[in-house]
Amino acid sequence: MTRDPAAQAAGDIDTSRVGWPTPADLDAVSPAEAVRRELMWAIENRIDYAPRSLQTRLGPSELGHPCQRRIGYKLTGAEISNPGDPAWYPTIGTAVHGWLEDVMKWLNGHLGSLVEGGPRFLLEHQVDVGEILGEHITGKSDVYDRVTGGVIDWKIVGERQLKKYKEKGPGDQYRVQGHLYGRGWQRRGMPVNYVAVFFLPRDRMLRDAYFWHEPYDEQIAVQALARAEGITTMVRNLGTGALPMLSTADAHCTFCPYFLPASTQVEEACPGHPGATGYIR
Ligand code: SF4
Repeated sequence: MTRDPAAQAAGDIDTSRVGWPTPADLDAVSPAEAVRRELMWAIENRIDYAPRSLQTRLGPSELGHPCQRRIGYKLTGAEISNPGDPAWYPTIGTAVHGWLEDVMKWLNGHLGSLVEGGPRFLLEHQVDVGEILGEHITGKSDVYDRVTGGVIDWKIVGERQLKKYKEKGPGDQYRVQGHLYGRGWQRRGMPVNYVAVFFLPRDRMLRDAYFWHEPYDEQIAVQALARAEGITTMVRNLGTGALPMLSTADAHCTFCPYFLPASTQVEEACPGHPGATGYIR
């Protein structure tokens, strides 16, 4: 099997990515194996070059992360030291989000004239949740319900996470994100009564889904912005020198993109939170 290099270079496919199967590679294996490699390369490439993978600014989903140092790495534009598997789970999440948006559009159409003044559910709207050192922090809010004043976020999660969220609530990161989106809608002049996260199982029965919610509290959003502003100020003043000074947390360190076991150069990579799962002394 041979491949035309000009055809390979056509379109928006980035053939410079390591792992692109060359014609020689493909000639050395069976046609089926060659296709498998090409398909896997395409999937990994589109994940790597998806817009979410290239973002460098903080977003509402990151402001509530319990580890200040992780936020600091993001702000310094640190190299990723722990790439792990291509981000397949987030890709599943993104794909399901797209499908859910279609479901909600269908629901809006189904409700039709039952709700005055337009569709009941406002979908995937960009909201401005506040500023950090004068820079606007924006993000896409999955669902706003005009009838109940609810701000709802979808999360597609694995079995263990789902169990944890049912037992202990959504954790700081998702909770803060919900209230930040709530503030974004409030700043658009919409009443916000509650924030919610609809946890949908990635690998369990749909009936296991869990709808967490609590009354909207603007102070939760304001405090998260103030915390992130403090971290941003430190990073702007000290650069990577701020990283060893930022507090850490047991926040799935082995999955953190800046994790490097036994790292002694915290300015470049993090050895993990002491005592956290995967922490190596
Ligand atoms: S490895 Fe753990 S402690 Fe270090 S930055 Fe990441 S989440 Fe924080």
